[in-house]
Order: sequence, then C-alpha cells, then structure tokens
Amino acid sequence: MAIEKVDICIIGSGFGGSISAARLSQESDGRIVVLEKGKRWQGDDFQQSQDTKYLFELYEDIQGDGIFVGLGKGVGGGSLIYSSLCFRAPSDVFEQRSRRGRRIWPQGYTRENLDPYYDKVESVLGVVQLGWTDEELPSWQLVSKKDGIFAKGCDLLGRTCDPARVSVKDCRNCGWCSTGCKFDRKQSLILNYIPMAEENGVEFRAECEAWVIQPARGKYRVIYWDLSAGAWKRLKAKIVIVAAGAIHSPALLLRSKKYLPLLSSQVGRNLSGNGDIALGGLVPDIPFEAYKGKIMGTISYGWWDEGIVLEAAFALPIGPTAKYATHLEGACPPYYWGLDHKHMKKDYSNHILFITGLGLDGNDGRVRIHWAGRPKVSWQTGAKSRSIYDAQIRAVGQIIEALGGSMMVTHYMKTGEVITAHPLGTCRMAANVFRGVVDENCRVFNYPNLYVVDGSVIPTSLGVNPALTIAAIAEKVSVSISANL
Ligand SMILES: Cc1cc2nc3c(=O)[nH]c(=O)nc-3n(C[C@H](O)[C@H](O)[C@H](O)COP(=O)(O)OP(=O)(O)OC[C@H]3O[C@@H](n4cnc5c(N)ncnc54)[C@H](O)[C@@H]3O)c2cc1C
Repeated sequence: MAIEKVDICIIGSGFGGSISAARLSQESDGRIVVLEKGKRWQGDDFQQSQDTKYLFELYEDIQGDGIFVGLGKGVGGGSLIYSSLCFRAPSDVFEQRSRRGRRIWPQGYTRENLDPYYDKVESVLGVVQLGWTDEELPSWQLVSKKDGIFAKGCDLLGRTCDPARVSVKDCRNCGWCSTGCKFDRKQSLILNYIPMAEENGVEFRAECEAWVIQPARGKYRVIYWDLSAGAWKRLKAKIVIVAAGAIHSPALLLRSKKYLPLLSSQVGRNLSGNGDIALGGLVPDIPFEAYKGKIMGTISYGWWDEGIVLEAAFALPIGPTAKYATHLEGACPPYYWGLDHKHMKKDYSNHILFITGLGLDGNDGRVRIHWAGRPKVSWQTGAKSRSIYDAQIRAVGQIIEALGGSMMVTHYMKTGEVITAHPLGTCRMAANVFRGVVDENCRVFNYPNLYVVDGSVIPTSLGVNPALTIAAIAEKVSVSISANL
C-alpha cells in the first residue's frame, strides 16, 4: 500500500474539523487533507423528504445501552442537518465543579475569554436574532406560531422566553432544516468555512473513513477506508487533528490505543447528552401549525437556576424524533411512518406542542468499542442528570397546564432511555492526563502534534445547543496550533 505525504490531516468535517481546516489553511502553505466518512452535499442534493434511504445517508443513529444518539454525517458534519440554533454558553457553565470542588474547565476557559471567538464565528455564520413581529424585522426573521404559544405559556408562569439566535439568511420558513436546506438559506459550513478552506487549497475527501492512527518516526500514519475506491489507503502527516465528533473521535482513539499506548485512560469516559430530553403536550383549545415555520425559534432561560433551558420545537420523523414519537401515549397511536405519519400530522399537528429540554447533566455516559471496532455507547442516569430531567418534566408540565393542555408521556418518561442530538465530553480537556485526554489547547497528552478538536473536548454539558461553542473552541485552538506550525 503506497503512502501519501501531507502536512496536516484532519479527520471529520463538522464544526471542529472544517473550522480548523479553514483557519490553518490561512497560516500554512503545506498540504491539508480532510477525511470525511459521509458524502459531499450541496443545496440541490437535499430533499424535503422523509425517505429513510435518504435520511440514513445524511444521518447516523446509534442505539446504545440506555441512550440513543443522533448525528449528522457528510462534508459539513452536523451543520448539514442542524436547526441552526447558535447560543453562547452562559458564564456559569464554565464554573462547574467536580464533586471534590475542583473547577472542571481549564483555567483558560471563561465566557469572557471565549467571547471574541464567539464573535468571530457569529460573523462568519451570519448569526441573527429572530423576532416576534414584522414591525421591526422582515418576515423571514420571525418566530413561528408554535413559538408564540410556547412563549405565552412561559409568560403565564412569569418565566422569560426569548426569540432564538440562528444562522439563517432570507429563510423561506419551509421547516425542512433537518433534512438539509435546499435553498442555501441555512448557513451550514458548506457555505462559509468549507469554501474558505478550499480557496486556500484544502482538499476535502468525502466517503473516506479514518480507521486507525499510528506513530511513524515523529509523524503519524492514518489508515483509512476509501469507500468510492473500495480500498484501504494510508497517509502520513506531521499534524493530525481528530474531529470526528463526540462518539467517533474516542472510538478512533480507542482503536488506535495499541499503537498509542500512552493515551489517557479517560478516552471515551464522561459522555454528556447535554441534558437533552424531548417532551410535549396536547393543547386542544389553541390551534397552531406545529409543523410550519422554523423548526426551533425560541428559548426559555426561565428555569436556568435549575440548570435547564426549554425550546419549542417541531419534530420530523427522523432518527431521534421517530423514536420520540412512538411513545406519545395518549396523544395518538404508535405508528408514524408513511401514510400513518401523514394522518398523524393532519389530526394532531394543530394541537401538539413539542418542547425540547437541554440542561447540565452529570456526564453519565461512556463510549467503548466493540469487537469490530465500532463505537458502543452506554448511559446510566445518575442523581445530577435525574434531577435535571425531573425539573424539565415538571417545567413542561406547568407550561402545558398553563395553556390548558395535557402533558404527553414521551420516550424518557416511559423507558428511562436518554435520546441526545448533542453528545459531548468523551475526550475532555483537563489539566493533566489523569483527568482528561487533551490539554486546554486540545493537544493530546503524551502525543505531540496530535489534537482533538470537536464536541468531545468539551468537559461538561453546556445546557444550550453546543455548535457555537464547539466552533468558538475550534477558532481559539486554531490560533495556538498555527503558532506551532
Ligand atoms: C437533528 C439535529 C439537530 C441539531 N441542531 C442543532 C442546533 O440547532 N444547534 C446546535 O448548536 N447544535 C445542533 N445539533 C448538534 C450539532 O450538530 C453538533 O453538536 C455538532 O455538529 C458537533 O460538531 P462536531 O464538530 O463535534 O462533530 P460533527 O459535526 O458531528 O462532525 C463530525 C464529522 O466527522 C465525520 N466522521 C466520524 N467518524 C469519522 C471517521 N472515522 N473518519 C472520517 N470522518 C468521520 C462524521 O461523518 C461527521 O461529518 C443538532 C444535531 C442534530 C442531530
């Protein structure tokens, strides 16, 4: 097998990988190659469709033990299918402490220190705040009807609710953000950081899955599977940046552990689901169009003192939501595909208010690999996580009741299984190799020029949607990697 020589190899092209590629390409004249296991997508390729064959090309669903994880897949990673909510983590997120009272985030991380990098990302992604009425803002920038009803519920309880910050421009409000934006209105990475990187000569190789990393005389050898060629290939790089997301980055490192024996024993531990929970209720007396407009347009920090936020949402029957919908007890019968799904929407969409909860969970999960090398994910809800799920269920119950509706029994309530679209924490940043996998500049302990830059380095849950924070960390760390080129 011939070996190709490059200067920097980046594995994964989501927020961590693409932003690293764009920024390092501005500082380095060397060859930068990004390996991405998913396909290459552009506007016209996206379908407003619930066809499972299509969705499984764009999504990866991982059924674990006690947890179900939904991920985006393709050049652009989770940005292809995300709802484009872009929130900065509240300042107390960075001050979370371990049971022994130790600050979990490295000293260099405070909201204040991260703000300049949040600014940078927001300007590239074109983040805007939505509004309630068209008196001040154009109609594309308004929340949808369900958001107004959710806000009313919060208001009746004396709790705040704000229009969300999103990365969209001239949105058509068609509501298909989570199957990829056909109209290039959602500002996914394929419209900004990725073209920026390509203009500087970065090569994105789609359908190439990195399998193992080995040391090679002061450099690293990456062995990957090229799906279109149907062949194993090798490349050698001075710098390797692992950016395969919070499930696949630890899996890749665990597969490589026999070649990199000094990796931290923390690899794969401390998985957070970011406190995700899907909840909702039937609100029969208030008709609203649950499936129209932006997928998510509001956020309530009204219960933040309990470590949770709530967001009104609507649900397409994809991955996590399919699972969620099968347990809407008392709402409608448990069949939600094809024609049945259409009927469900017709009958119920005017009366269902879906609410997503996020929160500061206890990092109770773990990623291991099974015998074939694929990730094996597990979760055991501990006291901290349980208390935030209870708080979310209580708060949503109050909102639904205030609106005159009745709470639905959703997946977690029925089974205790956690469903997350926001995994974090499995290669956490820390002060030393005993506590984490990378240092505060995302350098893997004991392995110079090997980095992890994605959601896996975030050491605690964020309690808000994480993409903007992952992006800000990638911006911050790119500065220190560039300084060492
Ligand atoms: C339906 C849905 C909606 C969401 N909406 C929002 C939202 O509105 N706001 C928000 O903040 N967050 C949202 N998220 C979460 C957000 O998408 C993720 O937090 C974010 O994408 C994580 O960024 P990352 O860089 O860690 O990894 P990812 O974006 O997941 O990128 C990792 C990439 O690596 C690739 N990869 C994996 N393994 C390998 C390998 N071995 N070799 C090569 N490539 C590999 C993957 O295919 C993927 O493209 C949503 C998630 C989902 C599922």
